[in-house]
Amino acid sequence: MAQGDIEKLIALLAKVPGLGPRSARRAALHLLKKRETLMQPLARALDETAAAVRTCSRCGNLDTVDPCAVCTDARRDRSIICVVEEVGDLWAMERSAFFRGLYHVLGGRLSALDGIGPDDLRIAGLVARAHEPEVKEIIIATSATVDGQTTAHYLQDRLAGADIAMTRLAHGVPVGGELDFLDDGTIMAALNARRPL
Ligand SMILES: [Zn+2]
Repeated sequence: MAQGDIEKLIALLAKVPGLGPRSARRAALHLLKKRETLMQPLARALDETAAAVRTCSRCGNLDTVDPCAVCTDARRDRSIICVVEEVGDLWAMERSAFFRGLYHVLGGRLSALDGIGPDDLRIAGLVARAHEPEVKEIIIATSATVDGQTTAHYLQDRLAGADIAMTRLAHGVPVGGELDFLDDGTIMAALNARRPL
């Protein structure tokens, strides 16, 4: 049996995190009702973004320009780099609007169980950046999970030769999951109370 276009749309929407099959049906129905004001602009935005998006060759952020808008923002403090696991963590930090330095997105964390080693992450680029004269501090903001801690220790070893201060986001705050799930105040507190590694 051929899958109808609307069923296909619902099946695709159901793959979006936060949307199950039920919410996907509701979203599809809403889009179908708002074809001109929502569905078509959304379709265009998806199409254009899919065509234009790229990974920043410097920090690993996603943007439609390379280097990304964060890397080229002249108002930012270029002496501090915050190392995060995923782009979502970078977005969470940006949402808190408290951190005004630069970022480095690893693209995950070391995991023996999932077979993710140093070569699978954006580590060589970070080591290179750590040796740039303008860089004075690197904040390791990997998660407080076992793998996140392992990643932090590994980075500490790899960056040991660079003339920088290395700090870690404070514990005692619920950095158990992804930064993305923290509210802005918690991110600010974790940054304020960062400690030397
Ligand atoms: Zn960038």
